[in-house]
Amino acid sequence: MFTCQICPAPPLELIDFGPQPVCNRYLAEPDAREYRHPLILSQCQTDGLLQLSRPWPSDEVRPRLDWISYKEPERHLDDLCDRIAALPGVGTDTLITGVSYKDEPVLTRMEKKGFSRTWNVSLEELGIHHPGAGMETIQDVLSEDLAGKLRSLKGVPGVIVVRHLLEHSNSVSKTMAFLKAWAAAGGYLILEVPDSEQTFKDLDFGTVWEEHVCYFTEFTLGRAFVPFDTDLMDVIRYPYTLEDCLVAIVACRPAAAPLPNDPGRLRQELALGTNFKAGWQTLATRCQQALQQVIDAGGATVIFGAGHRAATFVNLLGLERLISCVIDDDPRKAGLYLPGCQLPIVTSAHLHSARPALCVLAASPDSEQVIIGKNKAYSDNGGRFASIYPRSPLAWEHLKA
Ligand SMILES: [Zn+2]
Repeated sequence: MFTCQICPAPPLELIDFGPQPVCNRYLAEPDAREYRHPLILSQCQTDGLLQLSRPWPSDEVRPRLDWISYKEPERHLDDLCDRIAALPGVGTDTLITGVSYKDEPVLTRMEKKGFSRTWNVSLEELGIHHPGAGMETIQDVLSEDLAGKLRSLKGVPGVIVVRHLLEHSNSVSKTMAFLKAWAAAGGYLILEVPDSEQTFKDLDFGTVWEEHVCYFTEFTLGRAFVPFDTDLMDVIRYPYTLEDCLVAIVACRPAAAPLPNDPGRLRQELALGTNFKAGWQTLATRCQQALQQVIDAGGATVIFGAGHRAATFVNLLGLERLISCVIDDDPRKAGLYLPGCQLPIVTSAHLHSARPALCVLAASPDSEQVIIGKNKAYSDNGGRFASIYPRSPLAWEHLKA
């Protein structure tokens, strides 16, 4: 039996998407046999946490290609660093640490502010020797033993920055045990995660990803630290087009008062899951019909951006037979095939030579205007762009309820 990531209750299964491929495992040829694992979205009915009830093995999720990495938003980091610098007890001699390349931009900013003792633990120091290892591997090696080793290497951190790792953790409690064993008593954990409230409200199915085990909202992130005897000081929301960032500031000491129950808010959280479940097939049918109409009128459809969001959007909504190819100008991806749907990846020259009637944008929403600008000749010739992101100004109209 699978228990919730933050409480002993078994979460309720919402959607079983069936066996799905690893989104980062691009194929060298079509019709290749792919590793698959059940993708099951569940929700705890006790605390509302949305989560995958069968986390994927990190050895399988680890990229086979060493150039795969993910860029997290950074516009909010100056503000975040001001807040870290102002935390009670934190001074320029406080040891401030991180565990991945995603934490580096915070540590660099803190150094510029005069905090001289920063340490971003390297993969080697974590005991990881796989080329291409990412968050899936880092989360897997975190243990109280490792925390002890890190303490003996450079001392006890007063602040640990952990950006976009908690949602990748196959076990939130294992990650929290590591952080608590590493941090000083009364030290701070700065935990950043993507906000899933709006993406779930918007039925943004591209947000589901085998690498994200937990889908936190402000409410569930706030509850995530209760079982670990820590003191949640703040949850800060930083707005972005794709999804907001949430940052929890947690002190490693018992909370002064228990978090009050909030049954009204819990009901809203549970509705988020129920509506997502209810919307899945309706949205899939609507998208399939819209693409079929384009094809029936003699046009072709393509998707732009060969990342995990494109793969999930196509695979979970059953669109693979209605899209002719994936466009991506990353030369390392050209000639490969997208996992699951096994659509070929070609460059944007295809937009101009084949002139598909519809190009569905699945690259980062911040890059949409750049893509459109670079391919003006395509739209001048009657081609049409629409975004898979419900919050984009170019959102495909069929995504709206
Ligand atoms: Zn729970």
